Amino acid sequence: MTKRTPIIAGNWKMHNTLAESAALVEALKKADNKNNAEIIVAPSFTSLAKVAELAKGSALQVSAQDIHWEDKGAFTSAVSPVQAKDAGATHTILGHSERRSVFGDTDEILNKKVAAALRHGLAIIFCVGETLAQREANETIAVIDTQLENGLKGYTAEQLKGLIIAYEPVWAIGTGKTATPAQAQEVHAAIRKFLAGKYGEDFAQATRILYGGSVKDTNVDEIMAQPDVDGALVGGQALIAEKFTRIINFN
Ligand code: PEP
Repeated sequence: MTKRTPIIAGNWKMHNTLAESAALVEALKKADNKNNAEIIVAPSFTSLAKVAELAKGSALQVSAQDIHWEDKGAFTSAVSPVQAKDAGATHTILGHSERRSVFGDTDEILNKKVAAALRHGLAIIFCVGETLAQREANETIAVIDTQLENGLKGYTAEQLKGLIIAYEPVWAIGTGKTATPAQAQEVHAAIRKFLAGKYGEDFAQATRILYGGSVKDTNVDEIMAQPDVDGALVGGQALIAEKFTRIINFN
């Protein structure tokens, strides 16, 4: 079986002033990392350059929370892949459920953002997940396969090399409700099966699939014990250095 390096990523969302971001990143730079996980933080755009500067030379990698699909232009308030990269991002999250539901990012828009990230060499953390109604209607796997199919459309395994997927059930994000380890494993295995069918077994085995949705210091161990769970995308607890450090050091 392929050994995949775990990834623990923190999505800071619309939190933290510059000073708060700096304090958090300084604390995380000192964190133990007994699993040799890749650690990624996604500050808001106002803090991105500062965090990237402070993270230089450390094990921390820095991600944008989103990008626009164009390189520049009349898109008031948006941030282009060129700007995100210039500010120090090596990754971008795409398709977070808050982007999909609050800002109207459709699969088609996300497909354009995937193109933009690939064009500029930003590693993609591509988020997928079902709503509670879709889960209750037994549509979970179909919904996720469609999000993957449409969002990644037009690209080969070679072009998507290094892609990171985050499975984030919408009903578990910021709600305190977590998928059970068995529920997470079931969906992660289905995502890997989709990837194998579409891009081949080698690609599927190499791709890291993160779980996100109320991951905490108290539940990370059982989630990470699942064979197809390769890491976590963390919201709330990523803002608290001690909690995030414990998550990085999952057992
Ligand atoms: C997220 O923002 O991706 C997330 C999973 O948030 P939380 O951990 O707070 O549920």
